[in-house]
Amino acid sequence: MSHTEPSRPKRLAIVVPCYNESEVLPLSVPRLLAVCKKVRDTLALEPCVLFVDDGSADQTWDIIEREAQASPYVRGLKLAHNVGHQHALWAGMEWAVAHADVAVTIDADLQDDEHVILQMVRHYLDGADIVYGVREQRIGDGFFKRTTAQAYYRFMRAYGIDLVYNHADFRLLSNRALKALTAYSERNLFLRGMVRQLGLPSAVVTYNQNPRKAGTTKYPPRKMLSLAIDGLTSFSVRPIHLTFYAGIICMLIAVVTIIMAFVKHLMGHTITGWTSLIMSLWFIGGLVLMSLGIIGEYVGKIYIEVKQRPRYLIEKEVGDASEQ
Ligand code: UDP
Ligand code: MG
Repeated sequence: MSHTEPSRPKRLAIVVPCYNESEVLPLSVPRLLAVCKKVRDTLALEPCVLFVDDGSADQTWDIIEREAQASPYVRGLKLAHNVGHQHALWAGMEWAVAHADVAVTIDADLQDDEHVILQMVRHYLDGADIVYGVREQRIGDGFFKRTTAQAYYRFMRAYGIDLVYNHADFRLLSNRALKALTAYSERNLFLRGMVRQLGLPSAVVTYNQNPRKAGTTKYPPRKMLSLAIDGLTSFSVRPIHLTFYAGIICMLIAVVTIIMAFVKHLMGHTITGWTSLIMSLWFIGGLVLMSLGIIGEYVGKIYIEVKQRPRYLIEKEVGDASEQ
């Protein structure tokens, strides 16, 4: 087998998840191919770009197929249905475990600076297993996305969850890191938290993030919120503790009000506080519902985990894998 030959160049797979990206792909493909050429010429690696079509409903797969025919560097995986960004990345990483020595994951819109991939590979050649791409400036995101995302990083850190500030899913992983990561069996994926837990030698590269050149975001606020909740509840049980403490505080308040009411009754005052009564009723009701919601979130996670369903299904594959 070829991997026993000492002289074989190391293989780099650039993994690109694509969901309805037919508008931006024609712009991104040549840029990624230019990076491949540089990687081959200056660093002597054998590169390829793996596009993972996450069940797109537009022309995305046709473009990938066409590009795979036109260039020996292009590979494609077509997932049978839309499984979401994190799982599409997972599919690409499992492919890379078998076909590459090192992988870089990057979004199809190339908001992350693709030239940084060369720096990442240099760090890898110097011994890093993980290289985090960190956005120095988020000029590419609107005010809402930028502020909510940054507040989220701080919030997660306050909850003791280790994240690299302003790092999303643009990173390099060595084959060793990929193997370690894909051994995790969980279905609730929050990759930026999981990778951080691997603890292998790592490095950081910084860049300025650009606006999307074409197409629209595939992360509307609803998906952002769901990723945020996943990140929190997959890595911390502190919200459950908080509901417990909140319950204790409410009970203490209730005991105090009962004592006060009793004392007032003994002193001959009639209780007239209908307003305060109804307010506390709503307050407690809300608190109970919120606590149930938090617990339900965890129970739902357990439900998804115990089913152990496949993460994705590959419908088709293109590109010359024999060359790899
Ligand atoms: N994506 C995906 N599946 C989805 C949603 C998004 O594979 O269900 C991909 C998408 O094609 C892109 C990346 O995830 O390559 C990030 O999406 P996007 O750039 O729209 O997110 P944003 O940068 O706005 O957060
Ligand atoms: Mg984007």
